[in-house]
Amino acid sequence: MQVSPKETLNQIHRTELDHPEFRGHEKVVFGNDPDTGLSTIIAIHDTRLGPALGGCRMWPYESLEEALTDALRLSHGMTYKNAVAGLDFGGGKAVILGHPRKHKSPELMAAFGRHVDHLGGDYITGEDVGLTPADMELIARQTAHVRGTDRTHRGDPSPYTALGVYHGILAALDHAFADRSLKGRTVSVQGLGNVGYALTRRLHEAGAKLVVSDINNDAVERAVRELGAEAVDPENAHRVHADVFAPCALGSILNDQTIADLEMPIVAGAANNQLAEDRHGSALLDRSILYAPDYVINAGGVMCLAKHDATDAALEADVREIGKTLSAIFAGAEAEGLTTREVADRMAEERLASAGHRH
Ligand code: NAD
Repeated sequence: MQVSPKETLNQIHRTELDHPEFRGHEKVVFGNDPDTGLSTIIAIHDTRLGPALGGCRMWPYESLEEALTDALRLSHGMTYKNAVAGLDFGGGKAVILGHPRKHKSPELMAAFGRHVDHLGGDYITGEDVGLTPADMELIARQTAHVRGTDRTHRGDPSPYTALGVYHGILAALDHAFADRSLKGRTVSVQGLGNVGYALTRRLHEAGAKLVVSDINNDAVERAVRELGAEAVDPENAHRVHADVFAPCALGSILNDQTIADLEMPIVAGAANNQLAEDRHGSALLDRSILYAPDYVINAGGVMCLAKHDATDAALEADVREIGKTLSAIFAGAEAEGLTTREVADRMAEERLASAGHRH
């Protein structure tokens, strides 16, 4: 969809300043480029730890309001993710309104790159849903403030996300069973995309039994064939009798319905925004289900973008630390009777409070 510049301005006045997701954002930039049809929102939440680093998502939002809500939520989340991951970057995110297949063009990507460049390095962009490494190359012709291009930096970050989730699962097993071995354990992986499939492979190599689901049958058949996995319907992925539920597809997967039905003592997966609402963290605690906060366990990808100059070995060592961070969060939550999400949030807020001035 495309929103006209006039309508955009009207909607901005109505929505931005009293928006419930605004939560102290430092800067929100609305960009339009009538020549290419670009309509974008770049949200910079917090730069106390450094310039805001977060990807750009292209999505056919129904309205500017919906796009703004998504940008503000994602940008706020990046502040917390980067802080707990120990990165010297703040939180930001960009969204482009439109359908990636129908509205994307090299000219539109270039126009987006120019908008990023005008921010002078306050915001560094990267790939998210709807954009590809090829789009990053187009953006990189307009601005240096981009990560995850094949030519200049490490490309696809998802293997590092999968590595972090794998070590997060080991930490969760250790906390729950005082045994981090995957031999004889069963993991239900929902979503076999870039992250989910790489994770599934690692789990298989470590001796885990796998139950897999995806709306894409080809991916499921491949996991059954290559990894001896058992297939279930995606809507039953959380009802499996297993040790770990690893959501690697959708947000809001942890809601009133799924939590009531969950049959597994651990939730540890890559998907962003797994809790439908904050209160679902408490709902998991009430059922004694150990939850690895999504933005902590899935930080391997942003670590890959942030540390683009590091050697593979150094980056992998840093990503493995996600397991240690989660162990500390699990122990803190248990000792204080808090949810793991509350402890993670506090960890982020303490780091932010001790940081210097804004970028
Ligand atoms: P992807 O698009 O490659 O894979 C998603 C997979 O989920 C696809 O195979 C898709 O068919 C499947 N899927 C979609 N709807 C489904 C449903 N209803 N039930 C089951 N499967 C369904 O995405 P990805 O890069 O693997 O990312 C997976 C999740 O991890 C996303 O939530 C993403 O935001 C998050 N994440 C990814 C990274 C990364 O480095 N790629 C980093 C952090 C977080």
